[in-house]
Amino acid sequence: MNNSLKPLSCEEDKLKMRLIDVKKRVEDSRLMARRNPGLISILAVSKKQTTAAVETLSRMGHMDFGENFLQDALEKIYCLKHLNINWHFIGKIQSNKTRDIAEKFQWVHTVDRLKIAERLNSHRPHQLPKLNVCIQVNQANETQKNGVQPSNVANLAREIMGLPKLRLRGLMTIPPITKTSDNTRSFFAELREQKEKLISEGIPMDTLSMGMSSDLEEAILNGSTIVRVGTAIFGPRPE
Ligand SMILES: *Cc1c(COP(=O)(O)O)cnc(C)c1O
Repeated sequence: MNNSLKPLSCEEDKLKMRLIDVKKRVEDSRLMARRNPGLISILAVSKKQTTAAVETLSRMGHMDFGENFLQDALEKIYCLKHLNINWHFIGKIQSNKTRDIAEKFQWVHTVDRLKIAERLNSHRPHQLPKLNVCIQVNQANETQKNGVQPSNVANLAREIMGLPKLRLRGLMTIPPITKTSDNTRSFFAELREQKEKLISEGIPMDTLSMGMSSDLEEAILNGSTIVRVGTAIFGPRPE
């Protein structure tokens, strides 16, 4: 998909190699998990990375990018509006920022209360398709972390289903930092069980947003459909 004849710069070459490497890790894990092809996507998390790096990956055919910080994201979205990119918001949502998020993004992974969902719904422009949303679950009740308590997910999901400009896609988690991958795996397994339970209760969803650079294998073994990968694609984040 490289439509210029210019050779890749060293930085571009590194991005390309890292993306290929991540795709291989995803594919190997998919085979190990005996899952069907085509159901796992890679969200390239571009927070704190340059617009140029996003542009390079986009020109290589990568389409999904995740951003945490709204101001930085809006700059990139504006500069790259000529490219075919799906933007995903994966950061903390302040209620005075919902208009920009509803207007500029295709996905929001971090909805965790009704007030935010209602504001996204009312700000979503009518000419655009429904905004895809995931509910962020705070699985271990960590006070410093956003997300709804597991016991409140079903209620919030039902409320979101009633909002006409939102499309409930699934659940998202950032598991607590633990010392063992067994532990991380149990959080991923728990989110998968929660999704299956909601589906059985008549709440349709097709997405589990879980797994990052260091644990995407465990996440895929436990049913992840979107892995959110930053440093393994872009390299270390500049401070
Ligand atoms: C930064 C971030 C990521 C990516 O983390 P890496 O370890 O760099 O892959 C994924 N999800 C969220 C919510 C993030 O904030």
